[in-house]
Amino acid sequence: MFERLASQKVSLTTASVGCRNILFSSKFYTLLLIVAAQFFLFVDTVSADTVVNSTRIWPASEYTRLTLESNTSIDYSLILLKNPDRVVLDLKDVALTSEIKKLPEKIGADNLYIRALRIGRFKPGILRLVLDLKTAVVPQAFVLEPVGDYGQRLVLDIYPAFPPDPLMALLNESAIRSAQANAHENIKSDKEAKTAAVNNEKPGSTIRLITVAIDPGHGGEDPGAMSEGGTYEKNITLAIARKLKDKIDAEPNMRAALTRDGDYFLSLPMRLDKARKLNADLFVSIHADAFVKPHARGSSVFTLSEHGATSAAAGWLAKKENDADLIGGVNLDTKDPYLNETLLDLSLSQTREDSHNLAREVLSEISEINHLHKNNVEQAGFAVLKSPDIPSILVETAFISNPEEEKRLRNKTYQDKMAKAMLFGIKRYFAKNPPLSRSKMVRLE
Ligand SMILES: [Zn+2]
Repeated sequence: MFERLASQKVSLTTASVGCRNILFSSKFYTLLLIVAAQFFLFVDTVSADTVVNSTRIWPASEYTRLTLESNTSIDYSLILLKNPDRVVLDLKDVALTSEIKKLPEKIGADNLYIRALRIGRFKPGILRLVLDLKTAVVPQAFVLEPVGDYGQRLVLDIYPAFPPDPLMALLNESAIRSAQANAHENIKSDKEAKTAAVNNEKPGSTIRLITVAIDPGHGGEDPGAMSEGGTYEKNITLAIARKLKDKIDAEPNMRAALTRDGDYFLSLPMRLDKARKLNADLFVSIHADAFVKPHARGSSVFTLSEHGATSAAAGWLAKKENDADLIGGVNLDTKDPYLNETLLDLSLSQTREDSHNLAREVLSEISEINHLHKNNVEQAGFAVLKSPDIPSILVETAFISNPEEEKRLRNKTYQDKMAKAMLFGIKRYFAKNPPLSRSKMVRLE
């Protein structure tokens, strides 16, 4: 009995083992079939559909940019719908990948223009992106060919139909600041006394409010130079620019505005246009570039050249800076909605002289805190310095490609020293060239 039971048990076990073997085999074949099917699906996806491998959203007050980076160029159509306001972007033969599915959650609740983003298969072969809007907008879509580290890109820019006025924003900011300043009058008057002492300047020697446009180089899709350690020029320039703005705002009779105050791309003409709308007295563009040779070091201050560059390195750098629009992405087919007026070549020689004087003062102050790349102000064809009526300089604070300088650039104390040197240079310039002398110049309206 016991033996029978035992033998039964054995046979049962054998049977179940056999069964497991059969199960295993059938599982194996099913798996094989699934893998094969997925392989064919994958082959189908690659051959028939464009694959979006990266999606990015860059929100800013000026506009919101949506970037789709893909393996091949995307065929698209753009539709603007009213009641309610929506933007529809139809993508032809684009695979609905997990990367695209991530897009809706990338739209922040604080986005000024987009309320929500929806994705769906509109019909076979068409993937539809619907942007529900918060306000009336002007959308622009365009493709960018591969450049630098980027592959093929489809860019959708959402501009407000009624762009904010940067001067209005600055005036509002100034009003808030003066209210805050009144609350801390004692502290401020102490600071003013100290500042006047530092500069040996009589208080009240400047008659009107001086506006300085500070331009942090690069941003958003355009990271600028990158160090070996992964430091982005766009972040360094913004950090120094913000420090300079705080210092200028703390001065009596001076105020500053940033061309960009966040991580987003701003075209070079947009930077100039913003400075002009602000009625800026000066334009200071801040950079921290890389050079082919890692041992290249030192600060430089540039102005716009009339004919060619003062050195090969200056020309090389200017070309690199001007490529920012290529990398960051400017729609060349449609006019920039911010640029509806043409700048004329007026008062250029006066502006050139003022720019040079300003550059000399800033360079001299920077020489106190850093090694200079060249002892003189350099000139090259930097596109961002082309305002005909605003003295403009470009400061290459240091070389991000030089490991030692990169370390300093990331250091907050050093960033502060750099901002202070620029402030002192600007103040010295105004002490010698009072802003009233600009009243004779023609302003373009
Ligand atoms: Zn740069």
